[in-house]
Amino acid sequence: MSPKPNSIASRDIAYCLHPYTNARAHEKKGPLVITHGKGIEVFDDQGKSYIEGMAGLWSTSLGFSEERLVEAAAKQMRALPFYHGFTHKTAIPAVELSEKLIAMAPVPMSKVIFANSGSEANDTIVKLVWYYNNALGRPEKKKIISRVKGYHGVTVATASMTGLPVNQTDFDLPINNILHTSCPHYWRFGKEGESEEAFASRMACELEEMILSEGPETIAAFIGEPVMGAGGVIIPPATYWEKIQTVLRKHDILLIADEVICGFGRTGNSFGSQTFGIEPDIMSMAKALSSSYLPISAVMLNDKFYQVIADNSDKIGVLGHGFTYSGHPVCAAVALETLKIYEERNLFAQVAETGAHLQNRLAAFKDHPLVGEVRGIGLIAGVELVQNKRTKESFSPAGKVGTYLNERAVEEGLIIRNMGDTIAFCPPLIITDDQIDQMIGRFAKALEKTLDWTRREGLL
Ligand code: PMP
Repeated sequence: MSPKPNSIASRDIAYCLHPYTNARAHEKKGPLVITHGKGIEVFDDQGKSYIEGMAGLWSTSLGFSEERLVEAAAKQMRALPFYHGFTHKTAIPAVELSEKLIAMAPVPMSKVIFANSGSEANDTIVKLVWYYNNALGRPEKKKIISRVKGYHGVTVATASMTGLPVNQTDFDLPINNILHTSCPHYWRFGKEGESEEAFASRMACELEEMILSEGPETIAAFIGEPVMGAGGVIIPPATYWEKIQTVLRKHDILLIADEVICGFGRTGNSFGSQTFGIEPDIMSMAKALSSSYLPISAVMLNDKFYQVIADNSDKIGVLGHGFTYSGHPVCAAVALETLKIYEERNLFAQVAETGAHLQNRLAAFKDHPLVGEVRGIGLIAGVELVQNKRTKESFSPAGKVGTYLNERAVEEGLIIRNMGDTIAFCPPLIITDDQIDQMIGRFAKALEKTLDWTRREGLL
């Protein structure tokens, strides 16, 4: 059904180019118009409600109607709607937020610099890593290793680190000096008869081989998400991070933890780094930092790194980096209030419990004819659909069945996201066990409809 003339949907088609959307398909299909939200639900312009099983984009941790965040924004906007951090200026919320983040850090950290998105935070890190090695007089130590299926953003540098073809094809990316090592997905990439432990060792070996063949003196940093999100919710084997860190230390390579999804409770701890025993030199965070009510991201640096940056800024004159909105006072005030709410409600500890409930409920789908693997930790999970459960063969073309399921879920009043044929769940951290049961009920119906369809189409 084509949208009515002059409706929001038809004006959307006329004027908007959508991110992560097939533009031609959108001209025909039009948008799902979301008008408001309450708790973990959002509502469309027809009044239909949806459980937001993805917390928007892995991000709206406090749901869609937290009045305290609205109040925090209004209060700060009245006091000081904008100020910046350039040339020795500061505004109080940015200071308080930096102090709070340093106190929360999983390992001793020294300084915080703000940006507006996960991409900008990671882009800032790339630049600071290059600046650092130039300052240390080793201009050849510039390469950054990320991973196949890793996701770090879409700016020129961060899309280069992202290990997904769609972010690079026809964008003339990746840029030079970005390498991708193997993806730690045991179920998909483990060899016949290989234990999970042996797989983790192989991942560390492959990393070291890459470092040695490039020359350790050319490798500046390794970047990884504790749990890969957009690459398909990939939980690394238990000993993976320990083994990777041993290799990095041996070759004097900085470790960057991309906490944009995992940060702030998603895996049941403040940071995914704690869950996986990661000791980063540098961290990026965004999304749940402000429950996504306003755009803000942060980069945290340890003291070893900071001291070199500080000396170099002194030598050059200033640190030639920063955005107009770095540490925007209204965004910082909302982030501070978000962190206060997490603490008051003991929300990260609650995630350890609700997360276990989500994982248990999803585990029941393991025997379903369409399901290859169910994986997850805390309140993040992925269900990978396959054409053949035994051989793990994927559907062809990739994503067709996942997209079909996604559409059925929307009919059932559930927003989830298919990354190819992996269905992701990442609900607001405030979700209760009862709401998880409702979400699973709707997913189960969509999955049954998808099974019927795959049989009818002869896809299975
Ligand atoms: N890193 C990770 C791990 C992410 O998941 C994302 C976004 N999904 C980003 C970076 C980029 O963040 P943004 O979209 O805010 O630029």
